[in-house]
Amino acid sequence: MNTEIYLGLGGNLGDPPATFQQALKKIGHFAKVTKVSKLYKSKPYGFADQPVFYNAAAQLASELSPLDLLAQLQEVEKQLGKKVVRENGPRVIDLDLLVYADEVIDLPELTLPHPGTLDRDFVLKPLADLNPLLTHPAWNGQSLQSAMDQLKECFLIEVAEIIKI
Ligand code: ADP
Ligand code: MG
Repeated sequence: MNTEIYLGLGGNLGDPPATFQQALKKIGHFAKVTKVSKLYKSKPYGFADQPVFYNAAAQLASELSPLDLLAQLQEVEKQLGKKVVRENGPRVIDLDLLVYADEVIDLPELTLPHPGTLDRDFVLKPLADLNPLLTHPAWNGQSLQSAMDQLKECFLIEVAEIIKI
């Protein structure tokens, strides 16, 4: 049984590595940040004519419910100046709740586990850094490592800077 919480961080406007640091510091006020992945650069998904994206993932521990945690994460996005102009378009920061223990939730405001987790390289790779053997009741026995092995292409570039917590 999985009891940990995993968060995906993304962004392509401003200085994403610095914004990720600020986000993790703010998240530290309502959750414990127990692990942070390497930092990656990725090709924009969906809509190509925009700056390169940065991605990372973090492991959290929190007593907040999934919806309360999402609300707190959305507040951090707002404080850091997130404005979404179009789906998959440019943004200062995107904080996605990827996995919350073994929870399966299917609400418009919160889908868990996050639907893109196993097939998007920029979500999967940083998450697999944190816990390659992680699996979930909704993943039909797949682990992050086996999903990585099945990825047809991986366009991620590892960035030298490591996020410090
Ligand atoms: P994107 O889909 O590109 O991440 P947004 O960050 O603007 O775009 O999120 C759109 C909506 O996705 C939010 O209103 C949020 O309620 C919803 N959502 C559904 N599931 C999740 C999740 N697992 N983590 C974060 N947001 C989620
Ligand atoms: Mg989002």
